[in-house]
Amino acid sequence: MENTNSKALFERAQKVIPGGVNSPVRAFNSVGGSPVFIKRAEGAYLFDEDGNKYIDFIGSWGPMLLGHADPDIVDAVRETALGSTSFGAPTKLEVEMAELITSSVQGIDKIRMVNSGTEATMSAIRVARGFTDKNKIIKFKGCYHGHGDSFLIEAGSGALTMGQPSSPGVTEGTAKDTLNADYNDINSVKELVEANSDDIAAIILEPVAGNMGCIPPVNGFLQDLRALSDEHNIVLIFDEVMTGFRVDFEGAQKVYGVTADLVTYGKIIGAGLPVGAYGGKKEIMEYVAPTGPVYQAGTLSGNPLAMAAGLTMLNKLKNNPDVYEDLERKSARIAEGMTKTLEAHGITFSANRVGSMIGLFYCEGPVTSFADANRTDKELFSKIFHGMLKRGVYLPPSPFEAFFLSNALSDDDIELTLNAFEETIEEISIKN
Ligand SMILES: *Cc1c(COP(=O)(O)O)cnc(C)c1O
Repeated sequence: MENTNSKALFERAQKVIPGGVNSPVRAFNSVGGSPVFIKRAEGAYLFDEDGNKYIDFIGSWGPMLLGHADPDIVDAVRETALGSTSFGAPTKLEVEMAELITSSVQGIDKIRMVNSGTEATMSAIRVARGFTDKNKIIKFKGCYHGHGDSFLIEAGSGALTMGQPSSPGVTEGTAKDTLNADYNDINSVKELVEANSDDIAAIILEPVAGNMGCIPPVNGFLQDLRALSDEHNIVLIFDEVMTGFRVDFEGAQKVYGVTADLVTYGKIIGAGLPVGAYGGKKEIMEYVAPTGPVYQAGTLSGNPLAMAAGLTMLNKLKNNPDVYEDLERKSARIAEGMTKTLEAHGITFSANRVGSMIGLFYCEGPVTSFADANRTDKELFSKIFHGMLKRGVYLPPSPFEAFFLSNALSDDDIELTLNAFEETIEEISIKN
């Protein structure tokens, strides 16, 4: 596969952009090799700067649920842009967006638009702290909530009462207010709550973890978190930046029948434009400025292009519930096909799937926590990634990312993908 142009661009990029990329995973560091530079995309396909075509399993890391360059979304953006790209004053589109979400998703009385998932989670914990007048938050090992300082914290020694920065530049002061629990282990959460009696403002989690592969909540986990939060006056935050409008139009809250106090969104809600949002219970959301004392603002928040794209996307999803059935069928076919191939070649693996989120782990199952996910054979993953890439299938370039399917995938695309997988696994098995 020709990659001269991508390579040349990567050379240029590395001189002027840290690592040549604007977000680390794009650099292919965890799989090796040189990243592919994308020129354009349409439906289920990416086209790179060398003219190669790939079946896309990243979908821009989530937003492209309906495939790339959806004509309705492109039209909405184009038409809106003709009336200017930003005003810094309220618009009808923002009202329509908020009305659509609050009227269709349980537990969201009010919602505030921001510009990314990171901003949404940062703002949500600030509001939770302001509302409860408490300081600490509990998050889970292996969950990702963007790059806000409060989330770049890992469990250190004395993990029961404080965390430690996982990135230079994050202060000890910030770290002392973030605690790390084990995903799917309610006792680890209870211990933290007990050890920090009255100072837990929020528990935040991905209701289906999607940033350590795909790990669904075990039976009762979300319900137990709900009960524990109620008992201790803790704000329960579901970070649905990935799962929102993907696992169901109403997100994981609907799938698992648990309503959070606050929910954060991103990705699909902006249809590929930079958007995030946080919303939830009226009494908590009214704590946000200008109604309440908790400050949060944004020059480009509720941007008209982003709202036009997002609103078009959400309306399309809401009016075509078949999308979710189609995605379920396609995803099941892919997961089953890959499973069969791996079994046939005697490769140890464990597969998790929730709707169109698929996580393949190359280790013994079940995989229910970050410790489990970490046992995946990363070297094998890299080989599979490159085997698929050279056969025209673009998987997420990290062993800890779920595949993101789009409904633009045709049955032929799925067939091609499964054949590429079969060939890749065969090639790897022969070499070993
Ligand atoms: C992607 C993601 C974020 C961060 O969103 P950005 O728009 O990249 O800032 C936060 N939470 C979850 C669950 C995500 O998947």
